[in-house]
Amino acid sequence: MNAHVAGLAARADSPTSSRLLRHIEQTRFERPTLVVDLEAVARKYAALAQGLGRARIHYAVKANPAPEILEELVRLGSNFDAASRGEIEMCLAAGAQPHQITFGNTIKRPADIAFAHDLGITHFAADAEEELDKLAEHAPGAEVCLRLIVESTEADWPLNRKFGCTPAKALKLMDYAKAHGLRPVGLSFHVGSQTREARMWEGTLAQVAETWKAAQAAGHEMTLLNIGGGFPAFYGDKIDAPDDYANAVMALIHRHFGEVPQIMAEPGRGLVAEAGAIAAEVLLVSRKHDNDLHRWVYLDIGMFSGLAEAMGEAIRYRITTDRDHEATGSCILAGPSCDSADVLYERQPYQLPLGLKAGDRVVIHSCGAYTSTYASVGFNGIPPLDVVVI
Ligand SMILES: *Cc1c(COP(=O)(O)O)cnc(C)c1O
Repeated sequence: MNAHVAGLAARADSPTSSRLLRHIEQTRFERPTLVVDLEAVARKYAALAQGLGRARIHYAVKANPAPEILEELVRLGSNFDAASRGEIEMCLAAGAQPHQITFGNTIKRPADIAFAHDLGITHFAADAEEELDKLAEHAPGAEVCLRLIVESTEADWPLNRKFGCTPAKALKLMDYAKAHGLRPVGLSFHVGSQTREARMWEGTLAQVAETWKAAQAAGHEMTLLNIGGGFPAFYGDKIDAPDDYANAVMALIHRHFGEVPQIMAEPGRGLVAEAGAIAAEVLLVSRKHDNDLHRWVYLDIGMFSGLAEAMGEAIRYRITTDRDHEATGSCILAGPSCDSADVLYERQPYQLPLGLKAGDRVVIHSCGAYTSTYASVGFNGIPPLDVVVI
């Protein structure tokens, strides 16, 4: 192992495995490439499963549907939450059985519902009458979780507002589902992606528990609580170990709900983000005029080629270079495409070595989730993000 790899691997705060860093160090990539360490995914799965105890894990496929990841998760006994026919097919191709797959998107195409139902997928989510009408027609008798809106969230990447309905509406929809031949079995919610601390679940769990109890009081047999995702990855701010975090969430659930027959969790980011890193390159370092205080650093990857979660500077990726021992200065970090929205970090400038220049390799950490799937298919002729699983 050379000095550079030793230096990176020795960072106490880095979740990126030395196996992964070594692979990047020893490989010449023609294009930005996401490298995923399958052993790191397996370790994270084991830790989350340990912390979640009796709760079933349904991997949120959208986070990273690489076939090798899905196959490894099948091997480990994971279940899957799919959002479309395409994702269902990816799970099946990886060896998952229909009974291991749930269809959790609240906005489904009728043909996709029929496809899932014909396969034998029996569990769906909904938050509106029209969606229940579609389910009643194309998946008669199916199990349904009603998704609740999350009022407030401390997550770095919130998933509130667009999804879910109010408690009163959820209760009405349970009656509606039953009247239309469906089986309303419970509630689902998403606390918000990248919810850094377990204590941040408290307010949401209290709200959901209130609705859970109201549904019971209204005569519904509540058997399934779907707690969604939200499990965090390390991007620079300290987070708890995944087993401790999951354990703390389960303790909160027990405190707010008492006995719940079945619990399922849908981790995406928390399972795969830290297992991946992107090898990328500096394409240009420039200033707009000779005395410009602002240094611009342009990478060969940006908002449209995998780093969409930098949108609004919500997710701040950790970047290391071969010059990390040199003096650093702030810069505006941008992608390579011909769109001025393709700026990653400007409001809060990024610290990078002053000696950085075109051709330098950069490693972007904790990129295993929501990168390959967010890359555009060919904006400016830039191909989708390459993925290598080791
Ligand atoms: C995206 C999504 C998840 C995964 O969320 P993470 O925060 O990445 O764990 C889980 N459930 C649903 C319904 C989702 O849409």
